[in-house]
Amino acid sequence: MAHRFYSETQLMVGESVRKFAENAVLPAAAAIDRDDAFPTEIYARLAEMGLFGAGLPEEAGGSGFDTVTLAIAMEELARCSGSVGNIFAIPLEAARFLLDHGDDRHKELIPEVLGGELIPATCVSESDFGSDVASMRTTAVLDGGDYVINGTKAWVSLGLVANLFFVFAKTDPEKGHRGISCFLVHGDNPGLTRGRKEDLLGMHGLATGQLIFTDCRVPAAMRIGPENDAFKMAMVNFDFGRVLMSAMALGIARAAYEDALEYAKGRVQFAKPIFEFQAVQFMLADMSADLAAARLLIHHAARLMDSGHSIVKEAAHAKLFTTDMAMKHVTDAVQIHGANGYSREYRVERLFRDIKLTQIYEGTNQIQRLIIARQIGKEY
Ligand SMILES: Cc1cc2nc3c(=O)[nH]c(=O)nc-3n(C[C@H](O)[C@H](O)[C@H](O)COP(=O)(O)OP(=O)(O)OC[C@H]3O[C@@H](n4cnc5c(N)ncnc54)[C@H](O)[C@@H]3O)c2cc1C
Repeated sequence: MAHRFYSETQLMVGESVRKFAENAVLPAAAAIDRDDAFPTEIYARLAEMGLFGAGLPEEAGGSGFDTVTLAIAMEELARCSGSVGNIFAIPLEAARFLLDHGDDRHKELIPEVLGGELIPATCVSESDFGSDVASMRTTAVLDGGDYVINGTKAWVSLGLVANLFFVFAKTDPEKGHRGISCFLVHGDNPGLTRGRKEDLLGMHGLATGQLIFTDCRVPAAMRIGPENDAFKMAMVNFDFGRVLMSAMALGIARAAYEDALEYAKGRVQFAKPIFEFQAVQFMLADMSADLAAARLLIHHAARLMDSGHSIVKEAAHAKLFTTDMAMKHVTDAVQIHGANGYSREYRVERLFRDIKLTQIYEGTNQIQRLIIARQIGKEY
């Protein structure tokens, strides 16, 4: 990274997270993938290091780092394990959501999220409705002083280990996306049960699963934000999430690039390192250029966000470009490894499975194109 573009803090945090990731995350990454078990100890270490509060101002108990710093930290973590990058993003986003939308009682939960005692999870998607959030079927009906939630949420990252759920449900089913509210539900709330664990291609260790709400009563005070306003709240949160997810994909792609470069230098065919073949060099040159371009897009969106601008288009640009280029280049990194790239012995095989997810969640890349098209249509 060119030093003149970055502040002392950004470079220092990047360096210390890189050291932590190389020493504590990298050695655990293969086992997280193989065992598909939530890495409890690493989660606790991230909390201990204060990383979950990295995006909050100091007066809210955070470190007051800017979003570029978060993106740098994310890139370093995901370079060593995509799953750990993912795990880092969830409390970061949850704490921010509580700060931005919560009342004083909700905000009291922030220290426990930052400390790792409360593990958050966001429940928006359902089996039948992913991109089409406005059609979700889960409902929350006001009954006396409580809301009663019924429905099943799917694909919830950390869902099976979390103990604080951000549940999106219809409070006015006739009103589509204008009829959705968000509720905080504690893990031991009666009426909440964990469903099946998802058997995923990659990004293992996230305890991704279903959450079933059956006459699940939560006090009305646990509604976060105004009634029927949660779609808008979620969309703003998605902009932040997309910056983080882009940085995560960048970290995974960088790992693939580094592995491919090292392999190309060491692998000899036809009496010379395969790096000497222009076909291989060009794949690596394209990776190097796209990694640099993606980083600039991500940091540009992050800077704009920190200066108070709406980043709907820029976050979608970053997410679309980074995750598409990452998928392409991680595939090429497998290609450069030949048969070894298709073997579980080499890390690039895991990177190939992990990276696919980044084109699917936090809004699929088709949805990113829709968002960009809508924005440029408005701007015209
Ligand atoms: C590992 C993992 C973790 C996840 N974590 C969470 C989580 O923590 N919380 C949560 O709420 N959700 C989570 N999700 C769900 C994720 O957000 C959804 O999978 C995603 O929004 C896509 O929804 P879908 O899978 O239903 O696909 P669909 O919406 O059914 O889409 C299928 C295909 O159709 C395309 N498509 C759909 N609509 C359009 C359109 N209008 N125009 C063009 N193309 C379209 C899509 O791009 C896609 O290619 C997770 C998913 C996975 C796999």
